[in-house]
Amino acid sequence: MKNKESLFDKSQQELEEFCISKEFKKYNARQIMRWVYFYQTFDFTKMTDISKSLIGELLNNFHTNLPEIAGATYEEDINGYSKKYLIRLADDMTIESVLINYNNRKTLCVSSQIGCKMGCAFCETAGLERGRNLSSGEIISQILLISKDIKEKITNVVFMGMGEPLDNMIELKKSLNIMSDNKFLAIAPRKITVSTCGLLDKLNDIEKFKCKIAISLNASDDITRSRLMPVNKKFPLKNIVNLINLQKPTVHNKITLEYVLIKGINDNISNAKELIKMFSPSKVKFNLIPLNKGEDSIFLKNLERPEGSVINDFKVKLLKAGFTVTTRFSKAQSINGGCGQLTAKTLYS
Ligand code: SAH
Repeated sequence: MKNKESLFDKSQQELEEFCISKEFKKYNARQIMRWVYFYQTFDFTKMTDISKSLIGELLNNFHTNLPEIAGATYEEDINGYSKKYLIRLADDMTIESVLINYNNRKTLCVSSQIGCKMGCAFCETAGLERGRNLSSGEIISQILLISKDIKEKITNVVFMGMGEPLDNMIELKKSLNIMSDNKFLAIAPRKITVSTCGLLDKLNDIEKFKCKIAISLNASDDITRSRLMPVNKKFPLKNIVNLINLQKPTVHNKITLEYVLIKGINDNISNAKELIKMFSPSKVKFNLIPLNKGEDSIFLKNLERPEGSVINDFKVKLLKAGFTVTTRFSKAQSINGGCGQLTAKTLYS
């Protein structure tokens, strides 16, 4: 029997080419994709406006199997809950996605790679040995699977799970097309955030999607940033500053600068002052992320989270300079679902 491909891996153009090659209409591709993504009907025989013969071709060539939920951990408080999923892919590799369901917003933190090549010193995903890119179908499947699990639509997507999304550009773009198309998954671009460690040369490639961009800054000087993030040797701070200062200020699409606060390394008030000198409140907002660390973390053994008062002073300094600042005490921290803690192995123990 012929190996069937996952329909979720097909872009609109690829499915159009398939339809044309089988002597059906190009527009059939969008009809099929509307069933799959908008109505989340995965059974080809239930697609009532598709001809029997095309359904036959789809059945012969494609499957719509979702990956499997291999485990989940859950945490709630009065405002909502977070749930971390361990997902087993077709080749038995595992990834993690975290659902953060607060104030009627269902934000899914998706993975884009297994492991990560970027080597950031504070991130546990970087410590994984084996790795590969996720296919666009595997990225999209995280949304389909979890939306099916909670029986509700995912309203926001952040690429802040495992991996560096801009290091997997082709699949990222395919997945963004399907996510943001208002006839498919219909997630508005302003509700999608692509977070990068700073592969600045790749940002142009996703500009047309108009989704939000977050850059992981994590230091206010090049020496510290290069120590924490090897990518800084290729794209140092001044490149980030130039890129941001050349952007037209748009209230709704300000770039977010993520800043992981690490005790004694980048949390001094002088670091905040340097940030204030470098950036303008009209162009960026800050997202401070106090370091997350699993209890048994070997990888991050020399790094600590700063005291609450230090985090607060840092925040107040930026606020007083006119910046919008949020502090992300990762919701899923106690279940190792916080940023940088996605190693897809915690649920095995
Ligand atoms: N590769 C992308 C997205 C994944 S990480 C990026 O670098 O942006 C998402 C965010 O989590 C990044 O801002 C990263 O700096 C932060 N992060 C990584 N490890 C962390 C940790 N141990 N504690 C807190 N935040 C962490």
